[in-house]
Amino acid sequence: MATYLGVDLGATTIRAVVGDRAGRIAGSHRARTPTTTGVAVTEAVLDAVRAACADADVAPAAVVAAGVGAAGPLDPGVGAVVEPPNLPSVDHVPLVGPLETLCSTGRITLHNDATAAAVGERFFGDGGENLVYLTISTGIGAGAVVDDNVLSGWDGNAAEVGHITVDPESRRSCGCGGTGHWEAYCSGANVPDYARDLHAGETTTLPLDDPDLDAAAVFDAAGTGDTFAASVVDRVARWNAIGVATVVHAYAPRTVVVGGGVARNHPDRVLDPVRERLPDLVVTNVPELRLTRFGAEAVVRGALASAITGGTGER
Ligand SMILES: [Zn+2]
Repeated sequence: MATYLGVDLGATTIRAVVGDRAGRIAGSHRARTPTTTGVAVTEAVLDAVRAACADADVAPAAVVAAGVGAAGPLDPGVGAVVEPPNLPSVDHVPLVGPLETLCSTGRITLHNDATAAAVGERFFGDGGENLVYLTISTGIGAGAVVDDNVLSGWDGNAAEVGHITVDPESRRSCGCGGTGHWEAYCSGANVPDYARDLHAGETTTLPLDDPDLDAAAVFDAAGTGDTFAASVVDRVARWNAIGVATVVHAYAPRTVVVGGGVARNHPDRVLDPVRERLPDLVVTNVPELRLTRFGAEAVVRGALASAITGGTGER
């Protein structure tokens, strides 16, 4: 059996899977992402690969090809993640070189995480030749397959849609340093702060002063009759709909597949209102909008598909 490797390097979790050419998974491993140094992150990735290989009872050197989906930004020239905003003390995470050495193969593909997931939706799913994978998670990002081509961009950073300006009037600042960006309103990291911004003394069950308030609590409260929380969720839906409509106008997908913790945990409050608004916002064809079937495994499955197909997702 030819052995393929997929790796998802996220801001909080590293996942590695080993599988065959058909994408059947023989072994896997999951670990926390170190927040200390780039070298520590690289070592943790290599450890996760060794553990996934051990789980599948194969040697790392038996791996024919590997795919990596990583939270960007990427430098594909050197095969590394550079200055990831979600890991502030980490400057440079070499990935391709160390994996080439461990796995004794030159066949390594590196995509940003959402692009890897798009490759997976194409290979494993029924997303077809025109699809966008949208992640609404700690941040917001996308991967696009257009006319059967996986869009990477010359620098590997295509479809960084979280930094689309949805609100030019806004003073809400984004982790990237810009203002009015989609992510600054709707990502998991920003929804709690956005709720604090909007609060003007209304009665609410939300502990707005609690620094540990998270997006899930805001969405949960909206379902329990908290009218302030419901109004925040409605504002978030409005920005999400503008963002998705922009993505549709840019890439003309037949399907927008959505993943990421924020969307997965509350699909009814995140996706349903966007689906309702899209026909009013999109002047071209309105795509199907649905949740990924692969849950938290969407990126690592995509990385495996990328390894199997050399980054194309073609079956
Ligand atoms: Zn931004």
